[in-house]
Amino acid sequence: MATLTELGLAEAKRRIASREISAVELTQAHLDAMERAQHLNAFITETPDLALEMAEAADARLAKGEAGLLEGLPIAIKDLFCTEGVATTAGSHILSGFVPPYESTVTRNLWAQGAVSLGKTNLDEFAMGSSNMTSYHGPVRNPWTRPEDNAALVPGGSSGGSAAAVAARIALAATGTDTGGSIRQPAAFCGITGIKPTYGRCSRFGIVAFASSLDQAGAFGRNVADTALLLQAMAGYDPKDSTSADLPVPDWTGSLSGKVKGLRIGIPAEYRVEGMPEAIEKLWQQGADWLKAEGAEIVEINLPHTKYALPTYYIIAPAEASSNLARYDGMRYGLRVEGENLAETYMRTRAAGFGAEVKRRIMIGTYVLSAGYYDAYYLKAQKVRRRIVDDFEQAFQKVDAILTPTAPSAAFRVGEKMDDPVAMYLNDVFTVPSSLAGLPGISVPAGLSAEGLPLGLQVIGKAWDEQTVLDAGLALERAAGFRIAPYGLG
Ligand code: GLN
Repeated sequence: MATLTELGLAEAKRRIASREISAVELTQAHLDAMERAQHLNAFITETPDLALEMAEAADARLAKGEAGLLEGLPIAIKDLFCTEGVATTAGSHILSGFVPPYESTVTRNLWAQGAVSLGKTNLDEFAMGSSNMTSYHGPVRNPWTRPEDNAALVPGGSSGGSAAAVAARIALAATGTDTGGSIRQPAAFCGITGIKPTYGRCSRFGIVAFASSLDQAGAFGRNVADTALLLQAMAGYDPKDSTSADLPVPDWTGSLSGKVKGLRIGIPAEYRVEGMPEAIEKLWQQGADWLKAEGAEIVEINLPHTKYALPTYYIIAPAEASSNLARYDGMRYGLRVEGENLAETYMRTRAAGFGAEVKRRIMIGTYVLSAGYYDAYYLKAQKVRRRIVDDFEQAFQKVDAILTPTAPSAAFRVGEKMDDPVAMYLNDVFTVPSSLAGLPGISVPAGLSAEGLPLGLQVIGKAWDEQTVLDAGLALERAAGFRIAPYGLG
């Protein structure tokens, strides 16, 4: 029998339901794995006692024949979701000491379905980053290393701790959030699957806000079926979030077929960026060939405003962040550094509480929203965002889904690109456009780079059509047969 930490979410669910294994046994196996993997720094707060308590309660419900969708299954939560009674930091010093008095809707949904919480995972500060290097709690290590050396690599970001925990077999699955790529890019870097659903599919209530018009919760798993299952338990309408959509959550898991026969899959010419490694170019072509072999039709498409997506994102996201982060002033929660008077207390608190990247974004955001520059930057960016949305709408007249690489490179070294924010921002060149358009996207591990590191393929779908995204993702997963675990994990 495979060790318990090797089971995926769906497989563990089957064994728990048949009472072959208990929730406590399964949880203990994951807590042991967590203990062995401390060097990854994947968690900010570990909650082993709470996990065992939740597992015992799950076993008791199972004994009575009651079982939620995720009954007894240990998962990890990105430390951006507020969890009642459990510290929530958003990876920032400014939230040191903050223990939320309420639960985010997404985590509330998960606990209602019987899931077990292993703890809160590390992330870039306020989810700003692509490498997990901006966390106040230190970098996360990718469980993967290049076979030829043992240099520490980044897991991607911002949901780097969640991705690393799932890849390292510490958690069966994990939640993430994606504002411009923070689920899909780390999934690709860590060789796992990650899905960002349509904007509005999951409630943002209780998720620490970064850029409210872009932030969306999603799921990590080691295969497509697992991410579908987790997402199904997370999603749903919530009157507490005015942007959450009043739509029923489809039975993605039950409908998952992997069938792509007759689907038209678009290949956007504008995603062929200069300097992309050959292995990624090849994998993209391979992905198209795999889908074609399964009966899909491959169609060349154009998304003409793609080159404006990153600059647009880096105006809109900081603008919204500068407004959202104004609430951290040392008065109501988290860190407070006393000054001579109120204004000085604000200044000292914010100077000590925010890291360099967050300060950069607040300054950019404040600048683009200021009276003299609002029209030139913020308003202009909003107009370009509309064009990007229109590009996708036109493309989806011709195709059912779009296939692209997830990221323009494989995982890089811890510390690399830190002195060049623009190089760091380029990581999101393939994920940001669909975020601006609010569309669902999945990253599926599909191959290895020249240095032996995982690479992902992305499928972008129409709004509310997560099913096609999942099915095309499953078709890629089956064809790629990517089963390799990080070296050293066996
Ligand atoms: N890397 C992007 C940024 O730094 C996206 C982050 C995210 O999706 N949360 O803003």
